Amino acid sequence: MAYFPPKQHLVTGGGGIVGLALALRLRQSAPALVDVTVCDPGLAGARKAGRVSTIAAGPRRFLESLGVWQHLGDAAWPVTAMHISDSQLQDVLRPIYLKLSGEITPGEAFAHVVSEDVLIETLRVACAVAGVALRATSVTNDRLEDEGRTISLADGGSLRADLLVAADGRPSPIRSRARIGVSRHDYGQNGLVATLQLERPHGGVAVQHFLPGGPFALLPMAGNRASIVWSQPHAAAQHLMSLDQSALAREIEACFGHHLGEITLVDRPQSFPLALGIARSFIAPRLALAGDAAHGIHPLAGQGLNLGLADAEALADGVGLAAGLGLPLGNEETLEDYQRARRAPAVAMAAAMEGFNALFSNDIMPLRRVRDLGMGVVDRAPGLKARIIRHAANLTAPADGPPRQA
Ligand SMILES: Cc1cc2nc3c(=O)[nH]c(=O)nc-3n(C[C@H](O)[C@H](O)[C@H](O)COP(=O)(O)OP(=O)(O)OC[C@H]3O[C@@H](n4cnc5c(N)ncnc54)[C@H](O)[C@@H]3O)c2cc1C
Repeated sequence: MAYFPPKQHLVTGGGGIVGLALALRLRQSAPALVDVTVCDPGLAGARKAGRVSTIAAGPRRFLESLGVWQHLGDAAWPVTAMHISDSQLQDVLRPIYLKLSGEITPGEAFAHVVSEDVLIETLRVACAVAGVALRATSVTNDRLEDEGRTISLADGGSLRADLLVAADGRPSPIRSRARIGVSRHDYGQNGLVATLQLERPHGGVAVQHFLPGGPFALLPMAGNRASIVWSQPHAAAQHLMSLDQSALAREIEACFGHHLGEITLVDRPQSFPLALGIARSFIAPRLALAGDAAHGIHPLAGQGLNLGLADAEALADGVGLAAGLGLPLGNEETLEDYQRARRAPAVAMAAAMEGFNALFSNDIMPLRRVRDLGMGVVDRAPGLKARIIRHAANLTAPADGPPRQA
């Protein structure tokens, strides 16, 4: 007769994309060994944040392995190319300094622009089908006990968990209660997010335009729409938010150029303060941090959620392995392995975004010349470009082996 170790329980505080993906992966891989509960007050209704994220090929494959990617349809739009420009607003001609394009494998784009709301809804359905318990309430307290954590919920209930995962976003009350410090840096910028209807076809091309105030990104969506993330100093962002929709559309055209014809705003713009925040530790006894609770970075390269999905995969697989071996879910070695695997890439990505933002968010002529020269050199080096595309796809390829996930 087969031996099954006693069933254990993992609770995630936070049911955003990261918390749900982690819960689903673990439940799918070890249904006989682990019960999984996701607690989030947002589970009470449909999420309507109206934001998109660029999801690279590596995390896309993870979502495919969960069986959710296949249901996204037009809510996941392939990026066929990325154009990077550093021209000034008053320039008559806006040269593109770097063009990245191509597929990772035939028919597989290096990134997709995905509606976060649709992805969350799809993950919720898949979690329910897989037997993840979804509780529409927040975690209000948790207490470390000998072999787990006792969790208090806002609806008056309580849960006992062998491992608690804080996937409760940037403010992460669970992380604060565990007294895990955060290295912070305020970028002094807000990210203005809006959905646009374009007159001419975008052709799946994403655009990153580095402006002195901060980067301006245009991300292609279905129906010839696009989402923009326009990073600006606080005061400039506040001014843009105070404009009516048609005046804001004219500002966007002035910034972006007229090659996509007339631009119309589809919804009310939103504005998010941008700050770096990296937790000093991703783990504590019987506790692990994942997603924005562990790391919040500048959205300029669209990597925050990609990092979070990689956390979800690594933690679920590590914990699933421990469960299979009959070890406690929150055993020290599993948590240390997770921290080793995930903290370094998050810190490296945060540092890279910090550097990019500082290098590009200015109009100092010698720096402009150097960065434009650098982009021009990369643009004429096909081997280097191919490596950059694989990196942007969150995939790395050993010299003579098959692609593997970063
Ligand atoms: C302007 C902008 C553009 C971006 N663009 C991209 C992009 O193109 N690509 C990319 O990869 N990333 C992007 N990001 C980053 C990405 O959006 C985040 O990294 C991602 O949404 C984080 O997901 P999460 O699940 O960790 O956290 P969240 O989405 O913040 O989810 C946290 C959840 O926890 C819940 N919660 C909070 N407190 C509690 C509690 N006490 N108990 C229970 N639940 C709780 C909340 O209700 C919420 O549902 C962007 C970010 C910004 C600001």
